Amino acid sequence: MTVAAGGVTAGLRGEELGRRLVGLLGEDKVLWKRHDLLLYEYDGAVDTAAPDAVVLPNETADVAKLARFCWDHGVPLVPRGAGTGLSGGAIPVFGGVVISFARMARILEIDVPGLRAVVQPGVINLHLSTAVAPYGLYFVPDPSSQKACTLGGNVAENSGGPHTLAYGVTTNHVTGLEVVLADGTVVRLGGRAWEQSGYDLVGLFVGSEGTLGIVTEVTVKLTPLPEDKRTILAGFPTMDQASETVSAIIAAGIVPAAIEMMDALATEAVESAVHAGYPRDAGGILLVEADGLRDGLDEQRERIEAICRAQGATTLRVAGSALERERLWAGRKGAFAAMGRLAPDYYVQDGVIPRTRLPEILRHVREVGERYGVRIANVFHAGDGNLHPLILFDGSAGEAVLEQVKQAGFEIVAACVEAGGSLTGEHGIGMEKNCYMPIQFSANDLAVMQRVKRAWDPAGLMNPGKLFPTPGRCREYDLGRRR
Ligand SMILES: Cc1cc2nc3c(=O)[nH]c(=O)nc-3n(C[C@H](O)[C@H](O)[C@H](O)COP(=O)(O)OP(=O)(O)OC[C@H]3O[C@@H](n4cnc5c(N)ncnc54)[C@H](O)[C@@H]3O)c2cc1C
Repeated sequence: MTVAAGGVTAGLRGEELGRRLVGLLGEDKVLWKRHDLLLYEYDGAVDTAAPDAVVLPNETADVAKLARFCWDHGVPLVPRGAGTGLSGGAIPVFGGVVISFARMARILEIDVPGLRAVVQPGVINLHLSTAVAPYGLYFVPDPSSQKACTLGGNVAENSGGPHTLAYGVTTNHVTGLEVVLADGTVVRLGGRAWEQSGYDLVGLFVGSEGTLGIVTEVTVKLTPLPEDKRTILAGFPTMDQASETVSAIIAAGIVPAAIEMMDALATEAVESAVHAGYPRDAGGILLVEADGLRDGLDEQRERIEAICRAQGATTLRVAGSALERERLWAGRKGAFAAMGRLAPDYYVQDGVIPRTRLPEILRHVREVGERYGVRIANVFHAGDGNLHPLILFDGSAGEAVLEQVKQAGFEIVAACVEAGGSLTGEHGIGMEKNCYMPIQFSANDLAVMQRVKRAWDPAGLMNPGKLFPTPGRCREYDLGRRR
């Protein structure tokens, strides 16, 4: 096997690889015919690439056997959960084997007194919270894709969600991992205890996007369900006013469980698709949720309402029942899917900025849209300063249009970095932003990350073509902003 600077270039491939895997693992665990592989060329992002084979393991031993085989034969290995990722993380850029966790989807243990659950990586995020709800518990990270995305994907992307503002993202809710390394070795990182001695390898692994190893078991922290909630919908004449309100709430010392924002274009799509009851005439809306002990919640709600009013809110509504709260959240959680009402395709960006810079960066987003002649809807985790501009386009218009859309996305994310933010909040770098890494990280920063990668995956077979710039593909990008 040869590893070139740009990625993996040689090794066992094609139908021969498929046949050898059938011999290794059995026919029922391997897909290798062209028509069976089509589905695995895609995830939630815009790029595609075909695997040579797909393996569906039943247990850790299958994963270890597969990893050892790939190691011996120079075959890239790309883990896949539900394929909802938005940075092309599960796309096999250099072909090889996609390992799907659809069959490793069992909750192995619910430890109520210890506030832990042990799950296989294919467990769907919402299924875990549903399973532990009868015990008055939940798993905090709640990506808007939670009806479909898996715990393995959440760990790999260090996923967040509307309610991670006050409680932290995936890394704050994972205490232990079982991981299969590139050579097939099985290791256990962390455990059930919150504090571990030695290097924090769980912390390093969470967010590593499948580039360091394959997660085969996850131990997560469970959290008691809040006693009560107050969900407030506020509509403002302008996005500037909605943005200022976010900072004003936090500056008042209130950290709600969630502060989500949406512009008029996104509201139009959501109302057409979900009928969540959002004001169509608002320039910007906020969905704010406070939760915790019942005592004091109404006082917090009143303070939030007063701040919204002072910032010029023209609509102010508090969910009066669980059903109404669900309807309000259905609008937010269904927002990406609702974009289909506006355009055949969308490309979502995921930049982070210091919250106080929201008004100016949102103005920049609008200006980029005008310059490129594209409509951009905004739906995002405003409390975290985590933007999600959705650039609307028609993919059937050809490759040149997609390239323009990507360039518009690059300009937005570059402005986020320049404002003191980051390339990604929660969707990961993947193959989408690996070329952009030098605008946030110096050569020394990247070299230290590469050394970590090589320590775990010396042959470069674990999800190659992700996270790090690949020389051939990345040359064309404007990296003039390199520090
Ligand atoms: C409509 C929509 C809304 C979304 N909202 C949010 C949101 O609010 N917050 C958020 O953070 N994200 C969001 N996402 C992005 C996405 O859902 C998350 O990144 C999610 O965690 C991906 O999970 P998945 O199971 O689909 O992983 P996949 O897309 O299959 O894979 C994602 C990455 O994880 C790696 N991976 C998967 N399983 C393993 C494993 N067992 N071991 C090692 N690596 C693995 C893959 O190689 C890949 O790099 C959204 C996506 C969509 C489509």
